Amino acid sequence: MATQLGSDLLEHIGATPLVEIEDGIFAKLEYLNPSGSIKARIAKYMVDKAEEQGFLKPGMTIVEASSGNTGNALSMVAAQKGYAMVVLMPEGLSSERVAISKAFGAEVRELGDFHVNTALHEARLLGSQPGYFCPGQFDSELNVEENREVFGPEILADLGNDRTPDAFVMGIGTGGTLIGVGQCLHAANPSCWLVGMEPDESCTILCGDVHRHKIEGIADGFIPGIFDRHRDEVDELVAVTSLDAITEMYALARRGYLVGPSSGANLVAARRLKERHPEFSTIVTVFCDEGEKYLSEYYLGS
Ligand code: PMP
Repeated sequence: MATQLGSDLLEHIGATPLVEIEDGIFAKLEYLNPSGSIKARIAKYMVDKAEEQGFLKPGMTIVEASSGNTGNALSMVAAQKGYAMVVLMPEGLSSERVAISKAFGAEVRELGDFHVNTALHEARLLGSQPGYFCPGQFDSELNVEENREVFGPEILADLGNDRTPDAFVMGIGTGGTLIGVGQCLHAANPSCWLVGMEPDESCTILCGDVHRHKIEGIADGFIPGIFDRHRDEVDELVAVTSLDAITEMYALARRGYLVGPSSGANLVAARRLKERHPEFSTIVTVFCDEGEKYLSEYYLGS
């Protein structure tokens, strides 16, 4: 497909490939988005809506708490649109994500240990100051809306008329992807089975645990508002260990997919679902972010 002359960077968010990664398991390659993750979608969507609704005006600063990818994505959107950006990130996550936001010109403040709670508190405080706008990804229904109105329909279009999704499997960070895409797929197939995934070491929703884990981007240390409001819509919650996620991440790289641990975890969960439900011929999951963000943590020297 020829690139449209004169189109701008943010128009190239989305329209990622959907590949049949294994028999009956389809992965949407979201790591190919500008800024390297699925979060480019909601970053652009939430900023566009805030501008339309008058919450965000030229000269203002965007502030957001993020375990990294939303921070990277918002930093890119802010750079394109000329806003200042402050990313509040917990310490102890992959250093590349700090570097990427800084490269886009954002200020990065690292606070709190591994989980996003402390950063989230700070973002709410700063976001309520004059001149600041905080999109609030963990609570915003716009996050759900983008996934329902844009990402979900894209998956259905990719599958074409011959296939209906039997299940959707997704790790829970904000829960926006699971819930929003789930709403769309449910509308297409009311029996579509919706599976949320958490790290076994920190299965906050399943068992109330909050511990360190290695599946960065999910299980941020609390139950997000989005998930809490929509939990009835989810059919099943499963846990995947960090070790299984990382082992699968390395295996995917050897197949040509350079992705992060949550992509590995999503595939592990999708494969287990397929084993339990061989009758499911179309299971959809997501490869969320690029492996380049984890070079120093995992791949250098591997
Ligand atoms: N994987 C990665 C790498 C992520 O950055 C995120 C978002 N934080 C997710 C999965 C989960 O997406 P969501 O926030 O929509 O639940």
